[in-house]
Amino acid sequence: MKHNFGAGPGILPHEVLKQAAAAVIDFNGIGLSILEISHRSPDFEAVLDEAVKLVKELLNVPEGYSVLFLQGGASTQFAMIPYNLLAGDAKAAYVESGVWANKALKEAKYFGGVDVIATSKESNFTYIPKDYEVPADAAYLHLTSNNTIYGTQLHQFPASPIPVVCDMSSDIFSREINVADFGLIYAGAQKNMGPAGTTLVIIKDELLGKIDRKIPAMLDYKVQIDNGSMYNTPPVFAIYVSMLTLNWVKSKGGVAAIQKENEAKAKVLYEEIERNPFFKPVCATEDRSNMNVCFVMENAEHEKPFLKLCDERGIIGIKGHRSVGGFRASIYNALSINSVYALIDVMQEFAEKNK
Ligand code: PMP
Repeated sequence: MKHNFGAGPGILPHEVLKQAAAAVIDFNGIGLSILEISHRSPDFEAVLDEAVKLVKELLNVPEGYSVLFLQGGASTQFAMIPYNLLAGDAKAAYVESGVWANKALKEAKYFGGVDVIATSKESNFTYIPKDYEVPADAAYLHLTSNNTIYGTQLHQFPASPIPVVCDMSSDIFSREINVADFGLIYAGAQKNMGPAGTTLVIIKDELLGKIDRKIPAMLDYKVQIDNGSMYNTPPVFAIYVSMLTLNWVKSKGGVAAIQKENEAKAKVLYEEIERNPFFKPVCATEDRSNMNVCFVMENAEHEKPFLKLCDERGIIGIKGHRSVGGFRASIYNALSINSVYALIDVMQEFAEKNK
């Protein structure tokens, strides 16, 4: 058995994979594959409707918000957000808490002014910047809720006098959020929601139509909303598997129940990192992520043999991102606590063998 700690595309629930595999051959018993039916067929329309319904239900999305399943990944949102929300003579505020935030703010510069109100770049993003004032005259505040590469997470969202736009690619559906606190939420699917290929956007409708700019149809939220995410052929399979995964989240008791499990998984793993003298954490304690657990070894020479032992024990995908080094255990929703215990066993085995 493999324990999949990969950062993304990440682990999906096994029962979802089984359902998805069956639907590739015969979808809903109709004698056709999910991959070969029209996206305008009632069968697929029901899938998209169900996916939107599940997002609304699981996150308690209030009235006045639209839910979209788009393409181009979170990276396309980096441009689509300012394209739609930032006028050329206006500015947007960005908190630079990692490389993804940096990429987002660079794209925004093509469309208007960018005010980087806080950064943790000087420490290679080992903490979440907190001491800043949100400028009341900016079009929006852009945040990243979980910094996948560095293993930091925004545990408390700042109060903001302007709409908050948040990249939740690596922690959406992992914890409860209050959607009403946000103007726009976006997330590439490939961590907690489904396979790569679709991007969830939840947008407050009243933010749209305020700027005077021509926007190409595919990048215009209004066009996407008016066409129910079907202006063109949507990524049918990615949406289908996302729908199955959201149903799985619901069957587990919803986001609140999943959050409890995620906190328990993170707690035991951080405790071992702190307890075991061979390992040490890399991030500020109060900002540690419950999704991506980053750590290094006291003795850097141990890192290669530890990785080898992990591989032998079926612990997959824990090599840290090249910009941080060390290790990163991604413990997304579908990873069971037993897999976390399996990793802890290997950490203890390694320490025992090398003491
Ligand atoms: N934001 C965050 C926080 C991410 O982790 C990632 C991808 N790992 C991205 C944005 C980029 O997403 P995509 O590959 O879907 O463009």
